[in-house]
Amino acid sequence: MTQQLHQTMGQQYGRRSWAEPWKIKMVEPIRMIGGAQRAAALEEAGYNTFLLPSEDVYIDLLTDSGTSAMSDRQWAGLMLGDESYAGSRNFYHLEEAVRTYYGYTYLIPTHQGRGAEHLISQALIRPGHVIPGNMYFTTTRAHQEMAGGAFVDVIIDAAHDPADPHPFKGNVDLDKLTALIERVGADRIPYVSLAGTVNMAGGQPVSMANVKALRELCDRYGIAVYLDATRMAENAFFIQEREEGYADTPIAAILREFCSYTDGAWMSAKKDNLVNIGGWLAVNDEDVAEQARNMVVVYEGLHTYGGMAGRDMEAVAIGIGESVEDDYMRARIGQVRYLGDLLADWDIPVVRPIGGHAVFLDARRIYEHLPQDRFPAQTLAAQLYLDSGIRSMERGIVSAGRDPETGDHRYPKLELVRLTIPRRVYTQAHMDVVAEAVKAVYDQRAEARGLEMIYEPRQLRFFQARFRPFSG
Ligand SMILES: *Cc1c(COP(=O)(O)O)cnc(C)c1O
Repeated sequence: MTQQLHQTMGQQYGRRSWAEPWKIKMVEPIRMIGGAQRAAALEEAGYNTFLLPSEDVYIDLLTDSGTSAMSDRQWAGLMLGDESYAGSRNFYHLEEAVRTYYGYTYLIPTHQGRGAEHLISQALIRPGHVIPGNMYFTTTRAHQEMAGGAFVDVIIDAAHDPADPHPFKGNVDLDKLTALIERVGADRIPYVSLAGTVNMAGGQPVSMANVKALRELCDRYGIAVYLDATRMAENAFFIQEREEGYADTPIAAILREFCSYTDGAWMSAKKDNLVNIGGWLAVNDEDVAEQARNMVVVYEGLHTYGGMAGRDMEAVAIGIGESVEDDYMRARIGQVRYLGDLLADWDIPVVRPIGGHAVFLDARRIYEHLPQDRFPAQTLAAQLYLDSGIRSMERGIVSAGRDPETGDHRYPKLELVRLTIPRRVYTQAHMDVVAEAVKAVYDQRAEARGLEMIYEPRQLRFFQARFRPFSG
Protein backbone atom coordinates (compact mmCIF):
# COMPACT_ATOMS: atom_id res chain seq x y z
CA MET A 1 0.00 0.00 0.00
CA THR A 2 1.34 3.39 -0.84
CA GLN A 3 1.19 6.29 1.52
CA GLN A 4 -1.40 7.93 -0.65
CA LEU A 5 -3.78 5.01 -0.68
CA HIS A 6 -3.35 4.64 3.09
CA GLN A 7 -4.42 8.23 3.44
CA THR A 8 -7.44 7.77 1.23
CA MET A 9 -8.48 4.74 3.27
CA GLY A 10 -7.62 6.43 6.53
CA GLN A 11 -9.78 9.42 5.78
CA GLN A 12 -12.69 7.28 4.87
CA TYR A 13 -12.61 4.72 7.67
CA GLY A 14 -10.45 6.36 10.32
CA ARG A 15 -7.92 3.51 10.40
CA ARG A 16 -4.92 2.22 8.48
CA SER A 17 -5.94 -1.21 7.21
CA TRP A 18 -8.46 -1.84 4.54
CA ALA A 19 -10.27 -4.99 3.47
CA GLU A 20 -12.19 -6.15 0.46
CA PRO A 21 -15.82 -4.95 0.44
CA TRP A 22 -17.12 -8.53 0.10
CA LYS A 23 -16.97 -11.88 1.85
CA ILE A 24 -16.44 -15.29 0.27
CA LYS A 25 -19.50 -17.47 -0.32
CA MET A 26 -18.02 -20.29 -2.39
CA VAL A 27 -14.47 -21.59 -2.79
CA GLU A 28 -12.59 -23.42 -5.55
CA PRO A 29 -9.73 -25.62 -4.24
CA ILE A 30 -6.28 -25.14 -5.79
CA ARG A 31 -3.04 -27.06 -5.27
CA MET A 32 0.62 -26.84 -6.18
CA ILE A 33 2.01 -29.87 -8.02
CA GLY A 34 5.59 -31.05 -7.30
CA GLY A 35 8.75 -29.56 -8.80
CA ALA A 36 9.48 -32.48 -11.13
CA GLN A 37 5.89 -32.39 -12.39
CA ARG A 38 6.13 -28.66 -13.01
CA ALA A 39 9.32 -29.12 -15.02
CA ALA A 40 7.64 -31.81 -17.14
CA ALA A 41 4.51 -29.72 -17.64
CA LEU A 42 6.56 -26.72 -18.73
CA GLU A 43 8.55 -28.72 -21.26
CA GLU A 44 5.33 -30.23 -22.58
CA ALA A 45 3.94 -26.67 -22.95
CA GLY A 46 6.91 -25.51 -25.02
CA TYR A 47 7.91 -23.05 -22.26
CA ASN A 48 4.83 -21.02 -23.09
CA THR A 49 2.56 -20.39 -20.10
CA PHE A 50 -0.44 -20.10 -22.45
CA LEU A 51 -0.02 -23.81 -23.25
CA LEU A 52 -0.11 -25.09 -19.65
CA PRO A 53 -3.24 -26.93 -18.48
CA SER A 54 -4.73 -24.85 -15.66
CA GLU A 55 -4.84 -27.97 -13.45
CA ASP A 56 -1.04 -27.73 -13.29
CA VAL A 57 -1.14 -24.09 -12.17
CA TYR A 58 -1.18 -23.02 -8.52
CA ILE A 59 -1.83 -19.26 -8.57
CA ASP A 60 -3.00 -18.16 -11.99
CA LEU A 61 -1.90 -14.64 -12.88
CA LEU A 62 -1.91 -15.21 -16.63
CA THR A 63 -4.63 -12.70 -17.20
CA ASP A 64 -7.45 -10.70 -15.66
CA SER A 65 -9.54 -11.59 -18.71
CA GLY A 66 -12.66 -13.60 -17.93
CA THR A 67 -11.14 -14.72 -14.64
CA SER A 68 -13.15 -12.48 -12.31
CA ALA A 69 -15.31 -13.87 -9.51
CA MET A 70 -18.91 -12.88 -10.16
CA SER A 71 -21.05 -11.57 -7.32
CA ASP A 72 -24.10 -13.32 -5.88
CA ARG A 73 -26.20 -10.74 -7.71
CA GLN A 74 -24.57 -11.62 -11.02
CA TRP A 75 -25.11 -15.33 -10.42
CA ALA A 76 -28.73 -14.60 -9.57
CA GLY A 77 -28.87 -12.57 -12.81
CA LEU A 78 -27.91 -15.69 -14.76
CA MET A 79 -31.21 -17.24 -13.67
CA LEU A 80 -33.03 -14.32 -15.26
CA GLY A 81 -31.61 -15.11 -18.68
CA ASP A 82 -34.16 -14.56 -21.42
CA GLU A 83 -32.87 -16.85 -24.16
CA SER A 84 -35.21 -15.60 -26.87
CA TYR A 85 -33.43 -15.40 -30.20
CA ALA A 86 -34.54 -11.82 -30.77
CA GLY A 87 -35.14 -8.92 -28.41
CA SER A 88 -34.06 -10.62 -25.18
CA ARG A 89 -34.91 -8.52 -22.14
CA ASN A 90 -31.30 -8.88 -21.00
CA PHE A 91 -30.18 -6.99 -24.11
CA TYR A 92 -32.28 -4.03 -23.03
CA HIS A 93 -30.81 -4.19 -19.51
CA LEU A 94 -27.33 -4.17 -20.98
CA GLU A 95 -28.17 -1.32 -23.32
CA GLU A 96 -29.47 0.66 -20.37
CA ALA A 97 -26.38 -0.07 -18.26
CA VAL A 98 -24.04 1.03 -21.06
CA ARG A 99 -26.07 4.21 -21.61
CA THR A 100 -26.15 4.99 -17.89
CA TYR A 101 -22.49 4.37 -17.06
CA TYR A 102 -20.65 4.93 -20.36
CA GLY A 103 -23.15 7.26 -22.00
CA TYR A 104 -23.15 5.94 -25.59
CA THR A 105 -26.35 5.75 -27.63
CA TYR A 106 -26.18 2.54 -29.67
CA LEU A 107 -25.11 -0.83 -28.31
CA ILE A 108 -24.01 -3.86 -30.33
CA PRO A 109 -23.15 -6.88 -28.15
CA THR A 110 -20.29 -9.18 -29.22
CA HIS A 111 -18.89 -12.44 -27.89
CA GLN A 112 -15.84 -10.63 -26.46
CA GLY A 113 -13.66 -7.58 -27.04
CA ARG A 114 -12.03 -8.67 -30.28
CA GLY A 115 -15.44 -9.24 -31.85
CA ALA A 116 -16.13 -5.54 -31.26
CA GLU A 117 -12.66 -4.59 -32.53
CA HIS A 118 -13.40 -6.51 -35.70
CA LEU A 119 -16.66 -4.62 -36.26
CA ILE A 120 -15.28 -1.13 -35.66
CA SER A 121 -12.13 -1.80 -37.71
CA GLN A 122 -14.06 -3.14 -40.69
CA ALA A 123 -16.61 -0.33 -40.47
CA LEU A 124 -14.12 2.54 -40.42
CA ILE A 125 -10.73 1.45 -41.77
CA ARG A 126 -9.84 1.26 -45.48
CA PRO A 127 -6.56 0.13 -47.09
CA GLY A 128 -3.96 2.90 -46.74
CA HIS A 129 -5.47 4.30 -43.55
CA VAL A 130 -3.34 5.15 -40.55
CA ILE A 131 -4.64 4.65 -37.01
CA PRO A 132 -2.80 6.55 -34.28
CA GLY A 133 -3.10 5.24 -30.75
CA ASN A 134 -1.63 5.35 -27.24
CA MET A 135 0.48 2.20 -27.64
CA TYR A 136 -0.65 -0.85 -29.54
CA PHE A 137 -2.66 -3.70 -28.10
CA THR A 138 -2.23 -7.14 -29.69
CA THR A 139 -5.76 -7.92 -30.88
CA THR A 140 -6.64 -4.27 -31.55
CA ARG A 141 -3.71 -3.78 -33.90
CA ALA A 142 -4.26 -7.16 -35.57
CA HIS A 143 -7.81 -6.12 -36.52
CA GLN A 144 -6.66 -2.69 -37.69
CA GLU A 145 -4.00 -4.30 -39.91
CA MET A 146 -6.40 -6.93 -41.25
CA ALA A 147 -8.70 -4.08 -42.33
CA GLY A 148 -5.81 -2.58 -44.33
CA GLY A 149 -4.71 0.04 -41.80
CA ALA A 150 -1.36 0.72 -40.15
CA PHE A 151 -1.13 1.47 -36.43
CA VAL A 152 1.13 4.35 -35.35
CA ASP A 153 2.08 4.75 -31.69
CA VAL A 154 1.59 8.31 -30.39
CA ILE A 155 1.84 7.67 -26.65
CA ILE A 156 4.10 9.95 -24.58
CA ASP A 157 7.75 8.85 -24.35
CA ALA A 158 7.47 8.27 -20.60
CA ALA A 159 5.30 5.22 -21.33
CA HIS A 160 8.27 3.44 -22.85
CA ASP A 161 10.42 3.95 -19.75
CA PRO A 162 9.54 1.48 -16.97
CA ALA A 163 11.11 3.72 -14.31
CA ASP A 164 9.48 7.04 -15.25
CA PRO A 165 7.10 8.02 -12.41
CA HIS A 166 4.73 10.07 -14.63
CA PRO A 167 1.22 9.77 -13.07
CA PHE A 168 -0.50 9.45 -16.47
CA LYS A 169 1.82 7.38 -18.60
CA GLY A 170 -1.05 6.44 -20.89
CA ASN A 171 -1.41 9.97 -22.26
CA VAL A 172 -1.37 10.70 -25.96
CA ASP A 173 1.52 12.91 -27.08
CA LEU A 174 -0.44 15.61 -28.88
CA ASP A 175 2.67 16.91 -30.68
CA LYS A 176 3.40 13.46 -32.09
CA LEU A 177 -0.23 13.17 -33.16
CA THR A 178 -0.27 16.63 -34.79
CA ALA A 179 2.93 15.84 -36.68
CA LEU A 180 1.42 12.59 -37.91
CA ILE A 181 -1.80 14.28 -39.06
CA GLU A 182 0.21 16.95 -40.90
CA ARG A 183 2.36 14.28 -42.52
CA VAL A 184 -0.27 11.79 -43.75
CA GLY A 185 -3.34 14.06 -43.92
CA ALA A 186 -6.49 13.92 -41.79
CA ASP A 187 -8.43 12.11 -44.51
CA ARG A 188 -6.22 9.05 -44.09
CA ILE A 189 -6.94 8.88 -40.34
CA PRO A 190 -10.38 7.37 -39.66
CA TYR A 191 -10.06 7.69 -35.88
CA VAL A 192 -7.68 7.85 -32.98
CA SER A 193 -7.56 4.56 -31.09
CA LEU A 194 -7.45 5.59 -27.44
CA ALA A 195 -7.12 3.07 -24.61
CA GLY A 196 -7.58 3.65 -20.89
CA THR A 197 -5.72 2.17 -19.05
CA VAL A 198 -2.90 1.18 -21.40
CA ASN A 199 -2.37 -2.53 -20.99
CA MET A 200 1.00 -2.84 -22.77
CA ALA A 201 2.47 0.15 -20.92
CA GLY A 202 1.76 -1.51 -17.58
CA GLY A 203 -1.89 -0.63 -16.95
CA GLN A 204 -1.11 3.10 -17.03
CA PRO A 205 -3.90 5.70 -17.07
CA VAL A 206 -4.86 8.58 -19.35
CA SER A 207 -5.74 11.89 -17.67
CA MET A 208 -9.00 13.76 -18.16
CA ALA A 209 -7.02 16.80 -19.31
CA ASN A 210 -5.38 14.69 -21.99
CA VAL A 211 -8.61 13.27 -23.42
CA LYS A 212 -10.16 16.76 -23.42
CA ALA A 213 -7.20 18.19 -25.33
CA LEU A 214 -7.23 15.20 -27.66
CA ARG A 215 -10.91 15.81 -28.41
CA GLU A 216 -10.22 19.46 -29.24
CA LEU A 217 -7.32 18.57 -31.51
CA CYS A 218 -9.32 15.91 -33.34
CA ASP A 219 -12.30 18.24 -33.73
CA ARG A 220 -10.04 20.73 -35.50
CA TYR A 221 -9.16 18.08 -38.07
CA GLY A 222 -12.50 16.31 -38.19
CA ILE A 223 -11.08 13.03 -36.82
CA ALA A 224 -13.12 10.72 -34.58
CA VAL A 225 -11.92 9.33 -31.24
CA TYR A 226 -12.80 5.75 -30.34
CA LEU A 227 -12.04 4.32 -26.93
CA ASP A 228 -10.83 0.90 -25.91
CA ALA A 229 -12.91 0.97 -22.71
CA THR A 230 -11.73 -2.44 -21.51
CA ARG A 231 -10.21 -1.01 -18.29
CA MET A 232 -11.67 2.47 -18.37
CA ALA A 233 -13.33 2.13 -14.93
CA GLU A 234 -9.86 1.40 -13.51
CA ASN A 235 -8.56 4.42 -15.39
CA ALA A 236 -11.25 6.51 -13.67
CA PHE A 237 -9.85 5.47 -10.27
CA PHE A 238 -6.46 6.96 -11.15
CA ILE A 239 -8.08 10.22 -12.25
CA GLN A 240 -9.90 10.38 -8.92
CA GLU A 241 -6.67 9.67 -7.07
CA ARG A 242 -4.24 11.83 -9.02
CA GLU A 243 -5.91 14.53 -11.06
CA GLU A 244 -6.62 18.00 -9.69
CA GLY A 245 -10.32 18.55 -9.05
CA TYR A 246 -11.50 14.92 -9.10
CA ALA A 247 -10.76 13.73 -5.54
CA ASP A 248 -14.42 14.02 -4.53
CA THR A 249 -15.96 12.89 -7.83
CA PRO A 250 -17.31 9.32 -7.82
CA ILE A 251 -15.66 6.89 -10.24
CA ALA A 252 -18.99 6.49 -12.05
CA ALA A 253 -19.13 10.21 -12.84
CA ILE A 254 -15.49 10.30 -13.95
CA LEU A 255 -16.06 7.36 -16.28
CA ARG A 256 -19.09 9.02 -17.81
CA GLU A 257 -17.28 12.33 -18.32
CA PHE A 258 -14.26 10.68 -19.93
CA CYS A 259 -16.42 8.74 -22.37
CA SER A 260 -18.26 11.95 -23.30
CA TYR A 261 -15.09 13.12 -25.10
CA THR A 262 -15.14 10.07 -27.36
CA ASP A 263 -17.40 8.92 -30.21
CA GLY A 264 -17.77 5.35 -29.07
CA ALA A 265 -16.01 2.43 -27.46
CA TRP A 266 -15.26 -1.23 -27.80
CA MET A 267 -15.21 -3.33 -24.69
CA SER A 268 -13.87 -6.60 -23.45
CA ALA A 269 -16.45 -7.17 -20.71
CA LYS A 270 -14.15 -9.94 -19.46
CA LYS A 271 -12.06 -7.28 -17.73
CA ASP A 272 -13.71 -4.28 -15.98
CA ASN A 273 -17.25 -5.61 -16.37
CA LEU A 274 -16.60 -8.57 -14.04
CA VAL A 275 -17.84 -11.44 -16.20
CA ASN A 276 -16.29 -14.57 -17.65
CA ILE A 277 -17.30 -13.90 -21.25
CA GLY A 278 -18.74 -11.03 -23.23
CA GLY A 279 -18.06 -7.77 -25.00
CA TRP A 280 -19.71 -4.89 -26.74
CA LEU A 281 -19.38 -2.04 -29.16
CA ALA A 282 -21.17 1.21 -28.33
CA VAL A 283 -21.25 4.27 -30.57
CA ASN A 284 -23.05 7.59 -30.92
CA ASP A 285 -23.00 7.74 -34.73
CA GLU A 286 -26.06 6.14 -36.27
CA ASP A 287 -24.30 5.24 -39.54
CA VAL A 288 -21.47 3.49 -37.74
CA ALA A 289 -24.02 1.66 -35.59
CA GLU A 290 -25.87 0.52 -38.70
CA GLN A 291 -22.71 -0.76 -40.37
CA ALA A 292 -21.79 -2.65 -37.21
CA ARG A 293 -25.29 -4.11 -36.94
CA ASN A 294 -25.08 -5.28 -40.55
CA MET A 295 -21.81 -7.02 -39.86
CA VAL A 296 -22.61 -8.45 -36.44
CA VAL A 297 -25.22 -10.78 -37.94
CA VAL A 298 -22.54 -12.29 -40.20
CA TYR A 299 -19.80 -12.70 -37.62
CA GLU A 300 -21.37 -12.85 -34.15
CA GLY A 301 -25.14 -13.32 -34.05
CA LEU A 302 -28.29 -11.22 -34.14
CA HIS A 303 -27.74 -7.60 -33.04
CA THR A 304 -29.63 -8.19 -29.77
CA TYR A 305 -27.26 -10.91 -28.55
CA GLY A 306 -24.08 -10.74 -30.66
CA GLY A 307 -22.71 -14.11 -29.57
CA MET A 308 -23.72 -13.89 -25.92
CA ALA A 309 -26.41 -15.87 -24.14
CA GLY A 310 -29.17 -13.76 -22.61
CA ARG A 311 -27.96 -14.72 -19.12
CA ASP A 312 -24.46 -13.54 -19.95
CA MET A 313 -25.76 -10.14 -21.04
CA GLU A 314 -27.58 -9.90 -17.70
CA ALA A 315 -24.34 -10.65 -15.82
CA VAL A 316 -22.53 -7.95 -17.80
CA ALA A 317 -25.29 -5.43 -17.09
CA ILE A 318 -25.04 -6.08 -13.34
CA GLY A 319 -21.23 -6.23 -13.46
CA ILE A 320 -21.05 -2.77 -15.03
CA GLY A 321 -22.82 -1.26 -12.03
CA GLU A 322 -20.57 -3.10 -9.57
CA SER A 323 -17.40 -2.16 -11.43
CA VAL A 324 -17.82 1.56 -10.80
CA GLU A 325 -18.44 1.33 -7.04
CA ASP A 326 -15.70 3.32 -5.33
CA ASP A 327 -15.12 0.79 -2.51
CA TYR A 328 -14.77 -2.07 -4.96
CA MET A 329 -12.29 -0.22 -7.12
CA ARG A 330 -10.17 0.91 -4.19
CA ALA A 331 -9.81 -2.67 -3.02
CA ARG A 332 -9.15 -3.90 -6.55
CA ILE A 333 -6.34 -1.50 -7.30
CA GLY A 334 -5.15 -1.57 -3.69
CA GLN A 335 -4.48 -5.30 -4.02
CA VAL A 336 -2.44 -4.85 -7.19
CA ARG A 337 -0.49 -2.08 -5.50
CA TYR A 338 0.09 -4.20 -2.39
CA LEU A 339 1.90 -6.80 -4.51
CA GLY A 340 3.79 -4.20 -6.52
CA ASP A 341 4.98 -2.36 -3.43
CA LEU A 342 6.21 -5.60 -1.80
CA LEU A 343 8.39 -6.28 -4.85
CA ALA A 344 9.58 -2.70 -5.16
CA ASP A 345 10.54 -2.69 -1.47
CA TRP A 346 12.85 -5.63 -2.25
CA ASP A 347 14.39 -3.64 -5.13
CA ILE A 348 13.02 -6.02 -7.76
CA PRO A 349 12.65 -3.99 -10.98
CA VAL A 350 8.95 -3.41 -11.70
CA VAL A 351 7.18 -0.88 -13.91
CA ARG A 352 6.43 2.24 -11.89
CA PRO A 353 3.95 3.58 -11.00
CA ILE A 354 2.13 0.29 -10.31
CA GLY A 355 -0.74 0.12 -12.81
CA GLY A 356 -4.37 -0.87 -12.53
CA HIS A 357 -4.65 -4.56 -13.34
CA ALA A 358 -1.21 -6.02 -12.99
CA VAL A 359 2.33 -5.75 -11.71
CA PHE A 360 4.86 -5.81 -14.54
CA LEU A 361 8.33 -7.21 -13.89
CA ASP A 362 11.06 -5.53 -15.91
CA ALA A 363 12.70 -8.61 -17.43
CA ARG A 364 15.20 -6.50 -19.36
CA ARG A 365 16.70 -5.25 -16.10
CA ILE A 366 16.30 -8.52 -14.22
CA TYR A 367 18.13 -10.49 -16.94
CA GLU A 368 20.57 -7.81 -18.03
CA HIS A 369 22.88 -10.46 -19.47
CA LEU A 370 20.28 -11.84 -21.93
CA PRO A 371 19.88 -10.23 -25.38
CA GLN A 372 16.27 -9.54 -26.34
CA ASP A 373 16.19 -12.28 -28.98
CA ARG A 374 16.80 -14.79 -26.22
CA PHE A 375 13.37 -13.86 -24.91
CA PRO A 376 14.13 -12.60 -21.40
CA ALA A 377 10.48 -12.10 -20.39
CA GLN A 378 9.42 -15.49 -21.77
CA THR A 379 12.31 -16.98 -19.78
CA LEU A 380 11.29 -15.19 -16.58
CA ALA A 381 7.67 -16.37 -16.89
CA ALA A 382 8.95 -19.95 -17.33
CA GLN A 383 11.24 -19.68 -14.27
CA LEU A 384 8.44 -18.34 -12.10
CA TYR A 385 6.25 -21.29 -13.01
CA LEU A 386 9.10 -23.72 -12.32
CA ASP A 387 9.70 -22.19 -8.91
CA SER A 388 6.15 -22.17 -7.56
CA GLY A 389 3.52 -23.04 -10.12
CA ILE A 390 2.61 -19.37 -10.59
CA ARG A 391 1.46 -18.55 -14.09
CA SER A 392 2.28 -15.17 -15.60
CA MET A 393 2.51 -13.81 -19.15
CA GLU A 394 5.19 -12.46 -21.45
CA ARG A 395 4.70 -8.90 -22.71
CA GLY A 396 7.83 -8.24 -24.72
CA ILE A 397 9.41 -9.32 -27.99
CA VAL A 398 7.22 -12.41 -28.41
CA SER A 399 3.98 -10.43 -27.94
CA ALA A 400 5.22 -7.64 -30.23
CA GLY A 401 5.41 -10.06 -33.18
CA ARG A 402 7.03 -9.32 -36.53
CA ASP A 403 6.97 -6.23 -38.70
CA PRO A 404 4.65 -7.10 -41.65
CA GLU A 405 6.90 -5.11 -44.05
CA THR A 406 10.35 -6.45 -43.14
CA GLY A 407 9.45 -9.76 -41.50
CA ASP A 408 11.89 -9.04 -38.64
CA HIS A 409 11.06 -9.27 -34.95
CA ARG A 410 9.75 -6.01 -33.58
CA TYR A 411 12.05 -5.05 -30.70
CA PRO A 412 9.85 -3.23 -28.16
CA LYS A 413 11.56 -1.11 -25.52
CA LEU A 414 9.50 -2.83 -22.85
CA GLU A 415 10.39 -6.45 -22.12
CA LEU A 416 7.99 -7.33 -19.33
CA VAL A 417 6.38 -10.19 -17.43
CA ARG A 418 2.85 -9.44 -16.37
CA LEU A 419 1.50 -10.67 -13.04
CA THR A 420 -2.15 -10.01 -13.73
CA ILE A 421 -4.53 -9.99 -10.79
CA PRO A 422 -8.00 -11.47 -11.40
CA ARG A 423 -10.76 -9.39 -9.82
CA ARG A 424 -12.16 -10.57 -6.46
CA VAL A 425 -10.42 -13.97 -6.72
CA TYR A 426 -7.25 -14.07 -4.61
CA THR A 427 -6.47 -12.87 -1.09
CA GLN A 428 -3.60 -10.90 0.33
CA ALA A 429 -1.97 -14.18 1.44
CA HIS A 430 -1.80 -15.24 -2.21
CA MET A 431 -0.08 -11.96 -2.99
CA ASP A 432 2.52 -12.67 -0.29
CA VAL A 433 3.21 -16.10 -1.78
CA VAL A 434 3.61 -14.58 -5.25
CA ALA A 435 5.99 -11.89 -4.00
CA GLU A 436 8.19 -14.48 -2.28
CA ALA A 437 8.30 -16.62 -5.44
CA VAL A 438 9.35 -13.67 -7.57
CA LYS A 439 12.07 -12.91 -5.04
CA ALA A 440 13.37 -16.48 -5.21
CA VAL A 441 13.56 -16.35 -9.02
CA TYR A 442 15.14 -12.90 -8.90
CA ASP A 443 17.84 -14.13 -6.54
CA GLN A 444 18.80 -16.80 -9.10
CA ARG A 445 18.77 -14.42 -12.08
CA ALA A 446 22.45 -14.89 -12.97
CA GLU A 447 21.84 -18.52 -13.92
CA ALA A 448 19.19 -17.87 -16.60
CA ARG A 449 20.29 -18.81 -20.15
CA GLY A 450 17.26 -17.80 -22.19
CA LEU A 451 15.13 -19.65 -24.74
CA GLU A 452 14.96 -20.25 -28.47
CA MET A 453 11.74 -20.36 -30.48
CA ILE A 454 11.02 -23.65 -32.21
CA TYR A 455 7.48 -23.00 -33.48
CA GLU A 456 6.06 -19.65 -34.53
CA PRO A 457 2.42 -19.11 -35.55
CA ARG A 458 1.71 -16.39 -38.08
CA GLN A 459 -0.92 -14.39 -36.12
CA LEU A 460 -0.62 -13.32 -32.46
CA ARG A 461 2.31 -15.66 -32.01
CA PHE A 462 2.59 -15.28 -28.22
CA PHE A 463 -0.52 -17.42 -27.70
CA GLN A 464 0.83 -20.58 -29.33
CA ALA A 465 4.60 -20.21 -29.93
CA ARG A 466 6.84 -23.00 -28.57
CA PHE A 467 10.33 -22.70 -27.14
CA ARG A 468 13.16 -24.76 -25.72
CA PRO A 469 16.08 -23.82 -23.46
CA PHE A 470 18.80 -21.96 -25.36
CA SER A 471 21.45 -24.45 -26.38
CA GLY A 472 24.05 -22.25 -28.15
C1 LIG B 1 -8.40 -8.11 -23.66
C2 LIG B 1 -8.30 -6.85 -24.41
C3 LIG B 1 -8.89 -6.69 -25.67
C4 LIG B 1 -9.55 -7.85 -26.41
O1 LIG B 1 -10.63 -8.35 -25.74
P1 LIG B 1 -11.01 -9.93 -25.71
O2 LIG B 1 -12.21 -9.97 -24.84
O3 LIG B 1 -9.83 -10.67 -25.15
O4 LIG B 1 -11.30 -10.34 -27.10
C5 LIG B 1 -8.81 -5.46 -26.26
N1 LIG B 1 -8.16 -4.44 -25.69
C6 LIG B 1 -7.56 -4.55 -24.49
C7 LIG B 1 -6.84 -3.38 -23.90
C8 LIG B 1 -7.60 -5.76 -23.82
O5 LIG B 1 -6.97 -5.89 -22.65
